[in-house]
Amino acid sequence: FDMFFLAFVERLFRPTFKKDDFVLGKKLGEGAFGVVYRASLTKKPSSKVPYQKEGDLVLKKATEYGAVEIWMNERVRRACSNSCADFVHGFLENSSKKGAEYWLIWRYEGEATLYDLMQSKEFPYNVGTFSQLNLGLFKLPVPVLVILPNVQVERMIVKEVQDLPRGLERENTIIQTIMRQLLFALDGLHSTGIVHRDIKPQNIIFSEGSRTFKIIDLGAAADLRVGINYIPKEFLLDPRYAAPEQYIMSTQTPSAPSAPVATALSPVLWQMNLPDRFDIYSTGLIFLQMAFSGLRSDSALIQFNRQLKRCDYDLNAWRKSVEPRASSDLRKGFELLDLDGGIGWELLTSMVRYKAGQRISAKGALANPYFDREGLLVLSLMQ
Ligand code: ADP
Ligand code: MG
Repeated sequence: FDMFFLAFVERLFRPTFKKDDFVLGKKLGEGAFGVVYRASLTKKPSSKVPYQKEGDLVLKKATEYGAVEIWMNERVRRACSNSCADFVHGFLENSSKKGAEYWLIWRYEGEATLYDLMQSKEFPYNVGTFSQLNLGLFKLPVPVLVILPNVQVERMIVKEVQDLPRGLERENTIIQTIMRQLLFALDGLHSTGIVHRDIKPQNIIFSEGSRTFKIIDLGAAADLRVGINYIPKEFLLDPRYAAPEQYIMSTQTPSAPSAPVATALSPVLWQMNLPDRFDIYSTGLIFLQMAFSGLRSDSALIQFNRQLKRCDYDLNAWRKSVEPRASSDLRKGFELLDLDGGIGWELLTSMVRYKAGQRISAKGALANPYFDREGLLVLSLMQ
C-alpha cells in the first residue's frame, strides 16, 4: 500500500508529458523492442520543468514490453534513483497503426557508454578527466579523480592521481573507480529487489553531470518483490555476458505469481536462487574486459567464454591454461589484477563462478579489500 500511495503522491507533483511535447533528434540505438532517440521539448510546458535545453532528453519508443520498463524505471526513481539514468516520464501512446507503443523519457546523461570508452585505445585513461569538481559542499582544491558513488552515500573516497604516471597503478585506480560505481549502482538495484539481467558495457552510461557511471536499459529487468518478470520464454539474454544459468530462477520456481503471493514469497525465492548473482557474473566479465585489453572486442569475449566453459568455468584453471603462452596484453592484465597481493584477481574470481550461490553479492564485493587499498584517502560525509 505504501508504495502505491507514494507513487500516487509523487505523480501529483511531477510534470507529465504527451507525445506532442517532444521533437526527436538523432537516433541513438535500435533494439528488438524499441528505438532510442535524443530528444527535446517542443515548448516549455511550465517554467518548473527542468528539461528545456535542446537535446537534453532521451526518448525510447518501445513495444508492449515498454510497460514493464516504465514500471521498473518508476520503481528505481523512488527507491535507488542514483543507480540508473534519470527517468523523467513514461506513457502509453496509442498510435492506431502500430498498436500499443510506449514512450519512455530520460534525461540525456552523456554521449559515452562504457562500451564506447572501452573501444578506445586510450581506455581507461579516457575516463575521468581530472577536472575540478564542485560537490556543492566544498570545492576540491586540486584536480582529483573522485570515486563518488553519489553524494547521498555516507562515504566518499578521493584519490589524488594527477601525480601518478601512466602505468598499471593508475590504470588500476581508474578501473577500481569504475567497478566501485558499477557495484554501487547494482547494489541499489538488488536491494530494491530488481535484477537487471542485461548488464553489459553498452548498458552503462557515463553521466557527464555527476561524473559517475549509471546503469541504463531496464528492458529485461525482473522485479522479484512483486513478481514482475515479463521476459518471454524465447527471449534470449545477451549470450556474451549471460551467466551459465541463463535464467534467473530455477525451473522449479513458479513464474510470476500474482502480487500478494509474490510479496510473501519472494525473499525466500531470493535466498534460494540468488537471482542477483546473474548480474554479478556479467559485471565480473566487464571487470575482466577492463583489465585485459585483448578481451574487449566481441569476438575475443566470445572466444574467452568458450575457453572458460572448457575449463568448467574455473578462472584459475583458465589462467593456468593461457598464462604460459600469454600475449603481452594478457600478461599485463594478470599483472594489474595481481597488484596488492592479488586482491583484484581474488575479487574477479569471486564474481565469475559457475554456481550462482558461490558468487559474491554486490554488497559483499563493495566490502572487498580491493576497494579499500592503502593510499586511498577516505573522507566521511555522514549526513
Ligand atoms: P536498447 O533497448 O536499444 O538497448 P537502451 O536503453 O540501452 O536501449 O538505449 C540505447 C542507447 O541509447 C544506449 O546504448 C545509449 O547509447 C543511449 N542512451 C540510452 N539512455 C541514455 C541516456 N539516459 N543518456 C544518454 N544516452 C542514452
Ligand atoms: Mg541497451
